[in-house]
Amino acid sequence: MARIDRVEITEFRHEVENLGLDSSGFARVYEPGAKASLHNYAIAISADDGSRGEYCAMMCVKQVHLAQVLRLAPALIGRDPDCRERIYDDFKHALQAVAFVGVGPIDICLWDMAGKRANTSVSRLLGRYRDRLRPYVSAMRNDRNGGLSSAEALVDFAQDCESRGYRAFKFRGWSEGDPKETAACVDALAKRFNGDMSLMIDPGGDLKTFADALYVGRACDEAGFFWYEDPFRDTGTAQLAHRKLRQFIKTPLLISEHVRGLEQKASWITAEATDFVRADPELDMGITGCMKIAHLAEAFGLDVEIHGCGPAHRACMSAIRNTNFYELGLIGPQVGNFLSPPVFACGYSDQLNAIGNDGFVPVPDGAGLGVEYDWDSIKKNAVNAYEFN
Ligand SMILES: [Mg+2]
Repeated sequence: MARIDRVEITEFRHEVENLGLDSSGFARVYEPGAKASLHNYAIAISADDGSRGEYCAMMCVKQVHLAQVLRLAPALIGRDPDCRERIYDDFKHALQAVAFVGVGPIDICLWDMAGKRANTSVSRLLGRYRDRLRPYVSAMRNDRNGGLSSAEALVDFAQDCESRGYRAFKFRGWSEGDPKETAACVDALAKRFNGDMSLMIDPGGDLKTFADALYVGRACDEAGFFWYEDPFRDTGTAQLAHRKLRQFIKTPLLISEHVRGLEQKASWITAEATDFVRADPELDMGITGCMKIAHLAEAFGLDVEIHGCGPAHRACMSAIRNTNFYELGLIGPQVGNFLSPPVFACGYSDQLNAIGNDGFVPVPDGAGLGVEYDWDSIKKNAVNAYEFN
């Protein structure tokens, strides 16, 4: 039996050109000439049998997550790395007061280690259902700076994506959350694509009232949108409001991205407050937690849509029958996917060019997560390094 004897965490920065903040002070948008310095971190867990797991975080607000990862890391020392269910349970209890987002990257690292030790991919360990995923471009927020600054600009970008082979596209709108401006984008996209692309909208909580959510939802109904995600300022957490919204509109809702925990997601299903279920291996307690949510949704006959992108996301989605699209984003016409740091040394990509000629993205099938990290680059850009042993 192996024992974990070392955990290394490297906090690093990467810069993204033409990326600024909008008037909200939080939302990343296109801004010509601006340069964003984004924080990120990579984890490496080693065991006394020489095995090692690695994972670099993909999700935003990484510094907030890193604080939790640093709290948990020392508690890994001496544990059996194969006991992921026990670690899931103990760490969930340890962080029950703070929504346990730090568990995910650690669990993913342990799955990478398990795959490498067995010399097989995590996708196969999970029971691989498919080897390629249908992607959608998840557009970054609209801006006022000449990027995605109008409904026409959004349509042009979606058209560019279509010409690259994408058959699904999602937009967010502006963080000011004007319902008329948002609904105009819904109308413009529907008119241009007329059923040729699956269209989705994710205001990400930007609309201010239930009435605004209803207004945009009715536009989605007219336009035949595939899903309507986290519309308004309850931040996707009020079950009653969304059950009521479902009574007024017919576009399927995708809620629960901002609800943490298997049990909490279950209560959204039983409250009939969402149509699609959301899961993210980073935010929802790792591959272990994500697959529990996928099977929960399966038990109710619902589809689960994986939030965000990355090698762990691909591995999970490859082993789930009840799912539809792989989220590639956030991306704009002038800004690449800024949530995906340039850390891969093996050609893996979550940029616009990730789509193959067949219109799909592949699921890595090498040992573990099937990717190779560029540790020289990660270390060169390090701002902090932590080691526990
Ligand atoms: Mg979302």
